[in-house]
Amino acid sequence: MEKISIIGAGIVGMCTAVALQQRGVAVRIIDEREPGTGTSFGNAGLVSVDSCVPIALPGMIKNVPRWLTDPMGPLSVRPAYLPSALPWLIRWVKSGASEKNAFRLGHALRQLHQEAVDQYRKLLGPEHFDEIIKLTGQLYIWENSAKSRTDLLSEKIRKQNGVAVRELAGEEIFDMVPGLNRAVTRAEFYEKNGHVANPYLLVQRLFRIFSENGGEFIRQKVHGVSRQADSNTYRIITTCDDFSVKRLLVCSGAWSKKILKGLGVGIPFDTERGYHVSFDRGALDLKIPVLHKERAFGVTPMVDNIRVAGFVEIAGLEGLPDMKKEEVLIGNVKRLFPKIDIGMKKNFWLGFRPSTPDSLPILSQLDSLPNLYFGFGHGHTGITGAPMSAEILANMVMGTPNTIDVKPYDIKRF
Ligand SMILES: Cc1cc2nc3c(=O)[nH]c(=O)nc-3n(C[C@H](O)[C@H](O)[C@H](O)COP(=O)(O)OP(=O)(O)OC[C@H]3O[C@@H](n4cnc5c(N)ncnc54)[C@H](O)[C@@H]3O)c2cc1C
Repeated sequence: MEKISIIGAGIVGMCTAVALQQRGVAVRIIDEREPGTGTSFGNAGLVSVDSCVPIALPGMIKNVPRWLTDPMGPLSVRPAYLPSALPWLIRWVKSGASEKNAFRLGHALRQLHQEAVDQYRKLLGPEHFDEIIKLTGQLYIWENSAKSRTDLLSEKIRKQNGVAVRELAGEEIFDMVPGLNRAVTRAEFYEKNGHVANPYLLVQRLFRIFSENGGEFIRQKVHGVSRQADSNTYRIITTCDDFSVKRLLVCSGAWSKKILKGLGVGIPFDTERGYHVSFDRGALDLKIPVLHKERAFGVTPMVDNIRVAGFVEIAGLEGLPDMKKEEVLIGNVKRLFPKIDIGMKKNFWLGFRPSTPDSLPILSQLDSLPNLYFGFGHGHTGITGAPMSAEILANMVMGTPNTIDVKPYDIKRF
């Protein structure tokens, strides 16, 4: 089979490249940066096989005014960007309007996530897997003892999808995570979930495997893609070269819409920006990731740092970082872990989640654009969803059937 070109060396592009190589296909990747330094660099690194609750849920909309007016709140919309984001936001609200839709999306997320650990084992091979994937479980915590409407619905969605969860209360919580603020009143432990030693390391390791398998990497910015009128080839214009390719896969994360513009592909797609602050590993003795569900941030013990990640900021791809978010994240983690040594702070990072309004990625093709494949839109869970997405995309390219129903990820749903 002729070589396939992939635009994007993030987690989705790299997993798909290795999955294709494992099927005997030659692969070229084009990226303007070093592999793994886009959004896949600074995320919370959670491998959440049990994550099956869409972001927009019934009952959530009533929280939005409170979140938007709270400077410490998890959601912000930059006023200047609001007109551009409005169509996406309206679709986001509609997606969360009914419980029936939430259950449908929950099932599609479950299909995408539940095999992530086994699929990483297959992509990485046993020795890299043990070094990079940490099967510690994850702890979700709440300060408010009463369950909200969205908590109750999330429970129902998880139950319907067969997710095993252990509810903890009182001393059990503090035995599991010593040093946690006593304001925490309830917790849930997800035993099958884990995290990566470091997401950059994960992508770099996949890149090493890709290179050892004979993969070609071209470091150039793609300015545009067009279809050549007289043949089924695509022309990729980059900073220095231009390539004519017969088969193309777009895995360019939050930048995918921009790249597809020249082909006339219109999609409701935007970025939900997120931030992290990381501290040297010695700042906190933490063994498992802790997710504060009310404030929507997570603290992950990575191999080389303690990472605090969170926020959804609607401000597009070009807006400057909001430097105040750093203090908010530090305030959040200090409150959750009063003994953390923040003197060891070392990094503040902004990243761009590639987001559809319904929390599902686009893993798809269009009849009008033969041999062009879409692999982007993983939003909050790309590290978790990438290996199954790679499986789906590789099967699409090979023309082999998928083992799960892939209709929910079709671009034609919009
Ligand atoms: C704060 C935060 C926390 C998160 N936590 C988690 C988590 O715990 N677990 C989880 O599963 N997910 C998490 N995510 C989501 C996850 O990080 C993303 O879904 C995932 O990284 C997206 O991967 P990607 O390969 O699609 O995109 P990217 O990693 O962004 O890769 C896209 C690549 O395309 C390249 N590219 C773009 N435009 C061009 C161009 N014009 N020319 C050439 N190359 C181009 C970029 O350089 C980049 O390397 C989090 C995200 C954020 C922001």
